[in-house]
Amino acid sequence: MFDLIEKAAADLASAKNVVALTGAGISVESGIPPFRGKGGIWEKIDPMEYAHIDSFLQDPEKVWRVLIKGMKDVIDQARPNAAHLGLARLEALGILKTVITQNVDGLHQDAGNTDVIEFHGNFAWQKCMDCSRRYATRSVDMSRLPPRCRCGGILRPECVFFGEPIPTHHLYRSQDAAEHCDVMLVIGTSAWVQPAASIPLISKQSGARVIEINPEPTPLTHHISDYLIKGPAGEVTHRIMEKLAKLR
Ligand SMILES: [Zn+2]
Repeated sequence: MFDLIEKAAADLASAKNVVALTGAGISVESGIPPFRGKGGIWEKIDPMEYAHIDSFLQDPEKVWRVLIKGMKDVIDQARPNAAHLGLARLEALGILKTVITQNVDGLHQDAGNTDVIEFHGNFAWQKCMDCSRRYATRSVDMSRLPPRCRCGGILRPECVFFGEPIPTHHLYRSQDAAEHCDVMLVIGTSAWVQPAASIPLISKQSGARVIEINPEPTPLTHHISDYLIKGPAGEVTHRIMEKLAKLR
């Protein structure tokens, strides 16, 4: 693993256009449980019953009470960890250009990254379903569910529910970023779900090096990634950044 940390630091130090693809695994050390997999939210509640747009439209009170309120409690408390901060540092050094994320927690922006493509939207904002007025999630009054706009309309998070399409401009921008990077850094995602799954492949086919940081091997590991550094996102990124600081 020491060798791979050094290798990643060297690859990043010589790169000019790094793009990161991140998923739930990058925010676990910030206290945000993943949706999928062992211990994930979807083990406890059925996403089709609570996270599908049809369920929300049918019974917004239930979806707010069971899913959204719980997400708000967790995300309100969360702060960026060493992995988010490492990516922000890479941007400040002029190495990293874009973060593509499947997360809705807003922690990349909190850490300081300025170009973040959020496939699934951002939980930091709520939007009125009638007049489209926006409210910061932190400021929303939760004493009555579902929360309502001053016009009386129901608020919904600016996230993509199941059954809703991913905005096409996000898709095109991320494909373009993936095609033009020289290093693709995959952190905390198995990239199993489309459209995220196609992103590392596009980079690989365009000649980029693909570096993966995940606790366990993924479908990318032996086919697309040049190498996998096994471990928690924050811990591994922190060690890479330490090495990188010595190289520059
Ligand atoms: Zn309204």
